[in-house]
Parts: sequence; C-alpha cells; structure tokens
Amino acid sequence: MAHCDKHGEYTEQTADIFGIALRTGCPACEKERDEIEHQEGIRKAQEAERERLESLNIEPMYFTSTLDNFIAGSPEQQRALSYAQAMVKDRAGKLVLLGSNGTGKTHLAVGIVRVLGGAIYSMYEITTRIRASYVSGAKETELQIVDELARIPMLAIDEIGRTKGSDAETNWLSYIVDKRHARGLPLMLISNKHTRKTCPDGGCQNCLENYISEDIMSRLSEDGHLVNMTGEDYRRKKRAGF
Ligand SMILES: [Zn+2]
Ligand SMILES: [Zn+2]
Repeated sequence: MAHCDKHGEYTEQTADIFGIALRTGCPACEKERDEIEHQEGIRKAQEAERERLESLNIEPMYFTSTLDNFIAGSPEQQRALSYAQAMVKDRAGKLVLLGSNGTGKTHLAVGIVRVLGGAIYSMYEITTRIRASYVSGAKETELQIVDELARIPMLAIDEIGRTKGSDAETNWLSYIVDKRHARGLPLMLISNKHTRKTCPDGGCQNCLENYISEDIMSRLSEDGHLVNMTGEDYRRKKRAGF
C-alpha cells in the first residue's frame, strides 16, 4: 500500500516500460489532474470562441444566437429564416429585414455572420468610423473603410434609419452595395422602418427611402429579398422559454 497525503491509502501499481519498473501514483490525484486539464481545455476553447465572436463585432447578448435556435413564430419570420439559411449555403444573396424591434432581425444576421465570417455593424458604428477618418492624422481613410466593408465575406448593417440619412451615407452605402453585388458577396440590411409602398400614410419620416436612396432600393430588389418581420415580440417570447 502507498499513501497519498490528500487521499490516503491506495494500491500502487507497477508498469514495466522498456524494462524499467515505474510505480503509478495516486489514482485519485491523477483523476483530479485530468479533470483540471479537461476544464482548462473547455475554458480555452470558450475564450477563443468569445474572441472570434468579438472580432465579428457580435455583441455579448447575441453570443449564443444561431440560425438553429431561431424561433420563427410567424410566416414572415419563417421566410426570413429560409433566406438566411440560403445565404449561408450559397455564401451569397441580399436580404433586407424590416420590422419593429424584437422580431429577431439581429439574431438572424448574427446567425449568418458567425458562420460566414465578416461582421455586423450598426449604421452608426460605420458612420462614426468614417467620420473619424476625416480628421487629419486619422489612421485609416474613408476608402479603406468602405473597401474593407465591400470585401469581407459577409456584411450585415443594423439599425438603418436610427441616424439621419445623409448624402454621404447614401454614397458609401451605394458603393458597398454595388461592389458586393459585383463580387457576389452576401449583404444584409436591417431597419425598423418600412418601405414607402407599405407606408400607412403614403410617405412619412419612417419610410426607409429617407435613409436608403431609391436607387439602392431598386438595385437591392433586383435579386434580393425583402421581409417585413411582423412577428410577436421575439425577445419576450424567448424569455418566456419557448
Ligand atoms: Zn491523491
Ligand atoms: Zn412611412
């Protein structure tokens, strides 16, 4: 019998390796070491995944959002999910998601970006970054920023219409839409505005056309899809445990 200070008595085994008799240590200690290594491995993998999601500009509240765990509660949400799945499969396509907050638009965008790579940005994040490039001594130029957005494997632009649409915004957005179209790269635009066609007042401040030029809209509609997400409050439903 051998003795372990922590686990007490244990039966020592001898293993004959290349003629050398090696005595095994405390099996309970060995089990503990294995468990620590196992936990450490899991922690490192989780840490790496967290860093990857951050590099895609995915916010922590969406870290677990995937297309697989998206709950489509309305026919519109089901359609949006099908288009999103097709974008992942084809690594191409254009999708415009409209509708009130909490219908799962960002969830779907994250679900695509986490698989294809690229990034999800809010309109404000891009606008702010571009504006910062105008300052003398800036570390990047507007063209570099826009060119990067026109090249990444997948681009989702969230919260269109939350900032006031300007001519400058229309110009760079137009550039990105054109370039990504020419390169066959996927693009998703998200807004809680509505199109003029579906506007209850036949045109108002909440019409998407105030923020995206009709020119861009018509190019998106050529071979892209537009879904009005009218489902019930997605987040509330999710919290309720459905
Ligand atoms: Zn021990
Ligand atoms: Zn309107």
